[in-house]
Amino acid sequence: MCGFPIIRKERVESVSPKQKKKKRKEQARGRTGQENEEMYDVVIIGAGPAGMAAAVYAARAELTFVVVEKDMSGGQILETSEIDNYPGIPGTSGFELAQKSREHAEACGTEIIENIKIEDFRKIDGGFELVFDGNKTMETKTILIATGARPRRLGCAGEEEFTGAGVSYCATCDGAFFKGRDVTVIGGGNTAVEDAIFLARGCKSVTLVHRRNELRASRNLVTKLKSLPNVEIIWDSVAERIYGNGTVESVLLRNVKTGEMTDRKTAGVFVAVGTKPVNLGWQDKIPCDEGGCFIAGEDCATQVPGIFAAGDVRTKPLRQVVTAVADGANAITAIERFLAEQE
Ligand SMILES: Cc1cc2nc3c(=O)[nH]c(=O)nc-3n(C[C@H](O)[C@H](O)[C@H](O)COP(=O)(O)OP(=O)(O)OC[C@H]3O[C@@H](n4cnc5c(N)ncnc54)[C@H](O)[C@@H]3O)c2cc1C
Repeated sequence: MCGFPIIRKERVESVSPKQKKKKRKEQARGRTGQENEEMYDVVIIGAGPAGMAAAVYAARAELTFVVVEKDMSGGQILETSEIDNYPGIPGTSGFELAQKSREHAEACGTEIIENIKIEDFRKIDGGFELVFDGNKTMETKTILIATGARPRRLGCAGEEEFTGAGVSYCATCDGAFFKGRDVTVIGGGNTAVEDAIFLARGCKSVTLVHRRNELRASRNLVTKLKSLPNVEIIWDSVAERIYGNGTVESVLLRNVKTGEMTDRKTAGVFVAVGTKPVNLGWQDKIPCDEGGCFIAGEDCATQVPGIFAAGDVRTKPLRQVVTAVADGANAITAIERFLAEQE
């Protein structure tokens, strides 16, 4: 089902969906540096949940577009074995959800070009020129940046080995798998404290480990945290190593003031030391917040006309598949409006 309220009528009447798909394919071949390629209405950078949702909406809106992805399509969800909080698809794997999203987008006529890393953009008459592979370019009237974010890593031994097997970067996503068990949260900001409060509802105990002797989180959160009977805070400490046998069994903590080492039994280590948006180093060209996320509201419009940001790379309070997908839809709706205003 790819029918959608039609805003740009003249396009729809003159070109059939099949021709449109062919045209998109031809434009996609422009990646090789072909001349005379037409400008896309939008280039979607990133084939994660935000990019895939945007593609479905862009196809339904009869825009000319392409999705470019630096790796394989899917985004961060490829890193998680189970997703249980996406409505309508309980207990799915990240891979399966990514695959279904891709199939859905392609069924609507989306062209996804993988292994293209967008590096830069330049303003040109009527739109933008995106630069990739050093000196290749593609032209587009608008840009939708859906490049996501990466959770900051602890960098300690065992972290990589047990990621997805007890080490998690998302309490909202994975907390339910640790019901009735002892878990550890590393961090001291709002996210870490919120995660600890969230986990304390279902876990037997939560140990919050912070490298300083004061939390950076807001006062009301700290008060709430300290009132919980099953939460313990360990100050001035960092995770030195994560141990386990198939899954996490303990975390070795080092007191940064005394150097003392303590091995704490735990079933899960939730890392909440911040996320790093993939803003492509464009923060000097497109205004970002202090965390490096593009400043954009619900319509995903950045402060540069014609450039939109959707998903984890945008300023927002909750970074999840469901919010990324909503952004993709909102962004395309705003892009349609923007294009209509330019005509
Ligand atoms: C381990 C883990 C588990 C999670 N579990 C859940 C869960 O259970 N439920 C849930 O709702 N959320 C979960 N999340 C969060 C969720 O995955 C993200 O909120 C969501 O993927 C954000 O989607 P996005 O499209 O904004 O970005 P991403 O998923 O990060 O996708 C961005 C895409 O852009 C591509 N890209 C980046 N730079 C470029 C470039 N220069 N050129 C071209 N392409 C580029 C990337 O390769 C990537 O494919 C989890 C996250 C992690 C890390």
